[in-house]
Amino acid sequence: MNSNSAHDTPVNVTILGSGDAFASGGRAQSAYIIDAGGVRILLEAGPDVLRLLKKAEIPPSSIDLMIISHLHGDHIAGLPFLMLEYMWESPLKHPLTVIGPRHLEERVNGLVRLLYPNADLSKPGKKATGTELARKLKFVVLEPGKKIRAKKVTVGAIRSPHTKPDISLSLRIAINGKTIVFSGDSGWNDALPEFVRGADLFLCECTYFESKHLTFHLNYPELAANRDKFDVGRMVLTHLGREVLSHKHEINPGDGSLDLAYDGMKIEL
Ligand SMILES: [Zn+2]
Ligand SMILES: [Zn+2]
Repeated sequence: MNSNSAHDTPVNVTILGSGDAFASGGRAQSAYIIDAGGVRILLEAGPDVLRLLKKAEIPPSSIDLMIISHLHGDHIAGLPFLMLEYMWESPLKHPLTVIGPRHLEERVNGLVRLLYPNADLSKPGKKATGTELARKLKFVVLEPGKKIRAKKVTVGAIRSPHTKPDISLSLRIAINGKTIVFSGDSGWNDALPEFVRGADLFLCECTYFESKHLTFHLNYPELAANRDKFDVGRMVLTHLGREVLSHKHEINPGDGSLDLAYDGMKIEL
């Protein structure tokens, strides 16, 4: 392989927010950065994402691509603030693609209008704050079972058992010769081991420990019992809830087989 090839450069994952919807343990809600081959991806945009980016000294305008798993607030409520940032503080110089499940665009536009009534991203060309940004934004719907290629990144998805009627996605992101699978929020899904197979990193939600009866989130005992089914280099548990954190001392093997995420964690692939 040519030593200067793009595949020689590592893929770096930064976990900005490893908490659940309740910010358990003071952790930030969902937000991840993936850097590879000159492309910067924001995966999930929890309410705090703008502050998290600035704290990590990651310029919001440096994001090339956004990928969103589902429409719950702990995964998208930071988008209106990012849009505000792009309207006023750091105008985008490049088009920005936002990949996510159906209805993401309406939901984000609705949130922006609700929170900042003078802004409107839904009418490019009209005289409203946000017109310039609307020209640069491109929402792309990712349906379960499909793949999208954007910015040297291939994103595949399956539906996760988490929301109805809204669609929640588990995501498989291939970039620069590496593959990251993100469960999104999900109950146990028999399709997940096959979807994860061969990935370099599996970021898997783990909200509960004792509450094993819930079918719309994953719990630690179930994941630990099924660890062998996941043929993956490294498995990191995230979206950690109160129950998991209170059992932390029983869990963390620290060897990559089933580690716990923390805010600010960096993973090089
Ligand atoms: Zn969530
Ligand atoms: Zn959710």
